[in-house]
Amino acid sequence: MALLIRNGEIVTVGSRARADIFVENETVTRIGKNLEASAGVEVIDATGKLVFPGFIDPHVHIYLPFMSTFAKDTHETASIAALIGGTTTYIEMCCPSRKDDALAGYELWKAKAEGHSACDYAFHMSVTKFVEETEAQLRQIVADGTASFKIFLAYKNFFGVDDGEMYQTLELAKRLGVIVTAHCEDAELVARLQQKLLAEGKTGPEWHEPSRPESVEAEGTGRFATFLENTGAAGYVVHLSCEKALHAALAAKSRGVRIHVESVLPHLLLDKTFAERPGVEGMKHVMSPPLRAKKNQAVLWNGLATGAIDTVGTDHCPFDTEQKLLGKDSFANIPNGIPGIEDRVNLLYTFGVKRGQLDLDRFVDAASTRAAKLFGLFPRKGTIAVGSDADLVIFDPEYRGVISAKSQHVNNDYNAFEGMEIEGRPSVVTVRGKVQVRDGKFIGERGRGRFLKREPSHF
Ligand SMILES: [Zn+2]
Repeated sequence: MALLIRNGEIVTVGSRARADIFVENETVTRIGKNLEASAGVEVIDATGKLVFPGFIDPHVHIYLPFMSTFAKDTHETASIAALIGGTTTYIEMCCPSRKDDALAGYELWKAKAEGHSACDYAFHMSVTKFVEETEAQLRQIVADGTASFKIFLAYKNFFGVDDGEMYQTLELAKRLGVIVTAHCEDAELVARLQQKLLAEGKTGPEWHEPSRPESVEAEGTGRFATFLENTGAAGYVVHLSCEKALHAALAAKSRGVRIHVESVLPHLLLDKTFAERPGVEGMKHVMSPPLRAKKNQAVLWNGLATGAIDTVGTDHCPFDTEQKLLGKDSFANIPNGIPGIEDRVNLLYTFGVKRGQLDLDRFVDAASTRAAKLFGLFPRKGTIAVGSDADLVIFDPEYRGVISAKSQHVNNDYNAFEGMEIEGRPSVVTVRGKVQVRDGKFIGERGRGRFLKREPSHF
């Protein structure tokens, strides 16, 4: 069915104008003033609203076996939560462990999503070892449309690769034109510091941050950058959390290294005092890299404002209270993760745009367009233009609300952003022209989401 969105203020990177948008066959076919609606066309009045391109979360975990348990969401719950919050595409980390076969893992992750997501999705393929069959398998996965890899410098013996495997992955990525995303913390240092603290009887969640300090992340970031420099591959640092690591990335960028940077919602809004709360309250705020000293937040916001930090993701990864308690005797056993897929856009708009820390242009860029460009989705996604998929967010800047686990759609029993006030939220969200969300409620088609095939673009 055709759809006409009338009189909204259309915001894309580099442009802001009041106009109508006409949608047919899942794509935007016309943009202009006073477009006519023939009989049978669904009309939405967007007067007083902002119209954004559908937002893209470039870093989520949905199906995830991790630390002896599984993350709580299904693609159904995560995609509905994403859409209610204005995210119309997510890129999930496909994370088989070192003992698993990569190709079998990829097929498993795809099967978990297929037919269950209400929004479109893609994968970053984790390379968690590099053995004889790895190159052939990765070539097959790239040919299938998954044109980005993920490596972990952390999580020794589970997801983590050693330097030799990192080199082989980057060298292959360079030849294939594939960008490599990386979790940059030094695994050896983390393991040693964990042992040292635990031996001293320091077992609570407040010791998670000291076990993986800023210098350990900066070292990982710098080492990843040096490997990019010497292989010529393009890279993307996921969830960069602190000033020291940002300096390492920007120093590399200034000497011509092809390195990009993502920060995630928890690091922009929460600090390490949340993880220092007693007992399970602290455990709920454990992720890696950890929540940092508050002074880093201003550095991250400034980096975002200038574009030194390219994107904002979430590292969405829900473990509930019971699962967090697996770490009651040792912070090293707390399942890592802070969910945020539902709240990213609203909180970024509130604390970024409304507080004067981000202009509207950078907001759209950081939460949608830049990820589309880096990961081979542009201009199908990440903008509003004739020919683009009609993933549209009609955003009400006058809405006022409060974040709460009681009203969330993510499958979890707490929300790390509990009590934060939001200023603005999506009033209508479409996926390829179909209205999926209206006023905070999912009213659309479950399983509408499609796997997005992407071409390599980083030669
Ligand atoms: Zn992650």
